[in-house]
Amino acid sequence: MKVLAILYNGYEAAQAEPRLLGTVENELGLRSYLESQGHEYIVTSSKEGPDSDFQKHIVDTDILITTPFHPGYLTREVMDKAKNLKLCVTAGVGSDHIDLNAAVERKIQVLEVTGSNVVSVAEQVMMSILLLVRNFVPAHEMIENGGWQVSEIARNAFDLEGKVVGTLGAGRIGYRVLQRLVPFNCKELLYFDYNALPAEAEAAVGARRVQDLKEFVSQCDVITVNAPLHEGTLGLINKDLLQHFKKGAWLVDTARGAICVAEDVAEALASGQLRGYAGDVWNVQPAPKNHPWRHMKNPLGGGNGMTPHYSGTTLDAQIRYAEGTKTILQNYFEGKPQEPGNVIVGLGKYETKAYGQR
Ligand code: NAP
Repeated sequence: MKVLAILYNGYEAAQAEPRLLGTVENELGLRSYLESQGHEYIVTSSKEGPDSDFQKHIVDTDILITTPFHPGYLTREVMDKAKNLKLCVTAGVGSDHIDLNAAVERKIQVLEVTGSNVVSVAEQVMMSILLLVRNFVPAHEMIENGGWQVSEIARNAFDLEGKVVGTLGAGRIGYRVLQRLVPFNCKELLYFDYNALPAEAEAAVGARRVQDLKEFVSQCDVITVNAPLHEGTLGLINKDLLQHFKKGAWLVDTARGAICVAEDVAEALASGQLRGYAGDVWNVQPAPKNHPWRHMKNPLGGGNGMTPHYSGTTLDAQIRYAEGTKTILQNYFEGKPQEPGNVIVGLGKYETKAYGQR
């Protein structure tokens, strides 16, 4: 079979650090396995436009491997060219870069390595909340720039203790964030999700469910987004919803950039409606040089905690999602059942509640 992987370039870093498995250079560690089984393995980072390697090779590819970090956007139009495609594997978590409805119609299976980087992201969420609330980035920039004016930083620095923190989405990542927030003695932990957590899980973190989204955002000092991107979450955090946030709230989105409307977030930060915004996910990746989130600031010149998409691609996470990808391929080649939690789209139907019609 022909297996095509769209990965990001690691350049010198990937040559020096073989644990950067999710790079073009290190190929998810799959080449010798795939070739020993008689498969052809093509690895590239070239993914945009009709002349990209992605679109050239997709026409006779049987199995496509992509990652959310450097997403090969498998649109309905690209899928139309992919006459042999049977299986898409997301090395990581989050398969919104694939037109899942089109995959259902064409009986193309979509699997991901569920859970492979949920701790990595939960840790990044904690870091992002703290760096915003404590006004860390401008403090560090001041030091690098030779300055020392404590009042300029302290005027917008707070403690997390005593704040109301809410997660939009209380699944694998959202719940781990709630667990990690417990020792910070927040005033209250809230969550907004389609489903209630089991009573014992709710009690273990002392979280309260709020069922109305506007009501939820209006109660939070800090909101962290931990839901998948689908028809129901695309552009969910927009100008209208942002007006219901507490003035001066902090927002962290490490789930998917397109859940927030980029211009509306930048405007809310500039006006002070948001005090800070942090995350690592962007509506287009790589983000263009002029993306508003690169340079947006609050009225005091801080509040921007953006990074490139790396929270789920730590070296620890790369080992887990590379191993998980190999297991999915082995199961597929050997006709063994897949881990049910990994199956997003099975043969002609959704196998998860996370995407598709509800
Ligand atoms: P998960 O276990 O499936 O949890 C997602 C939760 O969000 C589920 O409880 C789901 O509810 C809920 N949800 C879905 N739509 C919602 C909505 N409109 N409002 C409120 N809640 C909603 O997934 P996970 O492993 O925690 O991952 C969550 C997302 O994080 C992924 O889909 C991915 O996009 C992102 N992620 C980012 C990175 C990164 O590197 N930055 C890495 C991994 C994952 P139901 O169970 O009822 O559907």
